[in-house]
Order: sequence, then C-alpha cells, then structure tokens
Amino acid sequence: MKLKTAAILSVGTELLLGDIVNTDAAFISRRLAALGINQYCQSVVGDNPERLKKALSELLETCDLVILTGGLGPTYDDLTKETAAALFGRGLVLHEESLERIQARLSKYGRVMSENNKKQAMLPEGAVVFKNNYGTAPGMAIEDEVRGKTAILLPGPPRECEPMFIEEVEPYLRRFADHILVSRMINIFGMGESRVEEILRPIMVSSLNPTLAPYAKEGEVQLRVTASAPTEAEGLAMCDEMIAKVRETEVGGCIYGIDAGSIERELVRELTSRRLRIACAESCTGGLCAKRLTDIPGSSAILDGSIVTYANSVKEQFVCVSRETLNAHGAVSKETALEMADGVRKLFSSDIGISTTGIAGPDGGTPEKPVGTVFVAVSYNGVCTHRELHIGVYNSNVFGTGTSERAYIRHISASNALELALELVRGR
Ligand code: ATP
Ligand code: MG
Repeated sequence: MKLKTAAILSVGTELLLGDIVNTDAAFISRRLAALGINQYCQSVVGDNPERLKKALSELLETCDLVILTGGLGPTYDDLTKETAAALFGRGLVLHEESLERIQARLSKYGRVMSENNKKQAMLPEGAVVFKNNYGTAPGMAIEDEVRGKTAILLPGPPRECEPMFIEEVEPYLRRFADHILVSRMINIFGMGESRVEEILRPIMVSSLNPTLAPYAKEGEVQLRVTASAPTEAEGLAMCDEMIAKVRETEVGGCIYGIDAGSIERELVRELTSRRLRIACAESCTGGLCAKRLTDIPGSSAILDGSIVTYANSVKEQFVCVSRETLNAHGAVSKETALEMADGVRKLFSSDIGISTTGIAGPDGGTPEKPVGTVFVAVSYNGVCTHRELHIGVYNSNVFGTGTSERAYIRHISASNALELALELVRGR
C-alpha cells in the first residue's frame, strides 16, 4: 500500500469553538513532513457522528491516509472509533491486550475498571493497535487494502497523541515509505522576506529537489531546504549543496546560522566556543536581551550581567554615559548607545558590551526621532560599532492577539543588538 497523500481530521467541539488550539494537527503536520508524506488538507469537525462520517468519507476519496485525533475517550461523546469502524465496514471486538493494559494502568493509579473503560478496549476488527503509554485509550490504524485507504485514530490529549505518534505511528508509517524527507533551516537576519525571495526566485523555481521555501518569523527570514532522498545521509548532502548555493548569492551575507534556532541561541553557541563573555546595558528593551540570552540553557558560560539603564541618571552613573553626550545628542542617539556598550563592558569586566536605546512607543516620538527609532551598539576588542534602526510596524498585531507595536519594536531592537554582537565577534 502506498501512503502518498494524507489529511488530518481533528474531532472536537472545543476546537471548533476556539476553546483550545489544534496543537495535535500542528505537531502531526511537522512529523508527516519529515516522513515525506504529503499533507493534502486539515479539517476540524465537532463531536457529531454524522458530520464526522461525512468529513471522513470525503477525505478518504482524495487521500490515502486520514489521521484522526480526539474522541477516543471513554465518554458518550467520544465516537470517533465507532464512526470510523462503521465506515470501513468493521465491527468492534474486544482486544485482550489493550484490556489488560487499561486494567494495569487503572490499578497503578488505584482506580477500578468501569464499563466505559472496557469500551476503550473494543477495537475495530483487524485494526493495527498503537499502545498508549500515557493514557488509557489505544490508538489504531484501520486499513482497507482493496481501496488502498487507511485511517489512523489517535487520542486527543497532546501528552498522549504526541508520544504515540512518535513511538508507534512513525514506525508503522515508515514501512510504507520509499524515501525520506530531510530538511535544514537557513537563518537570515537583516533582509526582508520579499528581497530574499526576489534574489532566490530563480533557484526556488528551478529546484524541485531539494526545495527551498522562505518563512518570515518575528523580523527574521528562514529558508527551509527540504530534500527527498533514499537515505538521511544523501538527503543531508543534497541540503548542504543547496545551502552552499544560497551562500553564493547576496543573501549569503545575511545568513547568521544553519538550524540555529534563534539569534540568541546562535550567539550563546558562538561565544561559548570562543570563550567570550558578554554584558548588556538596556534602555528601550528593558532587559529583553538578557532575558533572551538566559532563555538558552548554558548561557551562564557567556553572560556576565545586564543593567537596565532606563533613566538618564542611571546611564550616567552606572555605564558612564557623559552628561555632554546626553545633552548634545539625547538619550536616543548613536553616541549614547556607543558609550553605554563600552561602559557596560567595563562595568562588568566583560569581553563584549551591548546596548539598546530607542523609542518603543506608542508615545515619546518626535518628528526627528519617531517611534521605532532605536540605536543598538556593541563594544568588543577595541571596536565600538552601532546600528541605527527605524523599525516600521506594518502590522500592529505581529505576534498574534493583543501583542503590540511596542513589543515588536523591543523584540527587533534586541534581535539587532544580539545579531550585531554575533557579527562583530565573527569579524564580518
Ligand atoms: P479523553 O480520553 O481525554 O476524552 P479523547 O481522545 O476522547 O481523550 P477528546 O475528548 O477529543 O480526546 O479531547 C480531550 C482533551 O484533549 C481536550 O479537552 C483537549 O484538552 C485535548 N485535545 C483534544 N484534541 C486536541 C487537539 N487537536 N489539539 C490539542 N489538544 C487537543
Ligand atoms: Mg474525550
């Protein structure tokens, strides 16, 4: 049986109401992509057997594989198994091994088996059973060899669905695969998505394997290189060739890492390997640079400390910004940023000092220095360098519901300070 096209069908009224986010589908999508199984579409239906039946039979028309999540529990509204079994013309039979596993699990937690729990061990005839190591409901694959169609049913709770997918479903799916997908991420900073696309369009359209696809992410651009190959080693080699090609273009100068994860992660890695230590003086980012660095495990090897120098008096007193500089150029200026970076490097006796100062809004802008005007600076090895930013906010809701322009400006400011440090230590 070939499993070329797949769909995910999530079952749950709470998903339709927006009460919970469909993280199961996002998780499964990523894993399917890595397995080289093409996902055709995703759907959500409520806990309603008629609509579930309709949705499932429609998806089975176009896809070889439909993965269902949710509705495997013991309660009356959990009807996924019954509905799918009926559609495949299967009756439910007791699966002894599952019954024993449920029994064992319940007694481990001092609970007794109810009729409802027994119901969970009733599985469609001939189904492939996936063990549930984190809950009671087993998962299953129902195969229709004649039509070449398969439905996989997984429990809804992510803590059950995700490990079951990795531990049980992936080995099952691999049996059908004749190739795997390998992908690598190129991390780019300092060039917009449309410019990246413009430069790389000839490569993107001419290369089908590996493919090259851009994603914009919080002020950065990521390029995913995906190769389809018989083995992982061959796939990786194909990706490396593509990465080399991208490096030769104008985009190459803006690549800060491969599979870096984030700028802060890359900076921690770089400074750790160079045995360098950093300190931050932050005004408009209010500690965000330090927060992002300390998000990374192992950052104690590289971070000395950070000081939020918000008030001018603190800039003067602690990181030695001179009063003349503040009077002549203002707190939001290249001069102040440079003095802050150098001052904090000295204050903490670090190898590198970084700084941010700017106007994060919504108030405080002037015609000369509108909201989004930010200066970041880095001092390292006798060199002090800065970046002047004019952060435009095209979409005030960039991070999703409720997150503001202010958060965006601060985020981009911190990204720039961290990335400038990366550039300077690498000598680019
Ligand atoms: P249970 O045995 O817990 O009833 P179930 O397989 O019947 O499991 P549901 O009843 O559909 O699953 O969902 C149980 C809970 O799992 C939901 O309340 C929700 O917290 C979570 N959940 C369900 N579906 C998803 C999903 N697609 N993405 C993320 N979480 C989900
Ligand atoms: Mg349920």
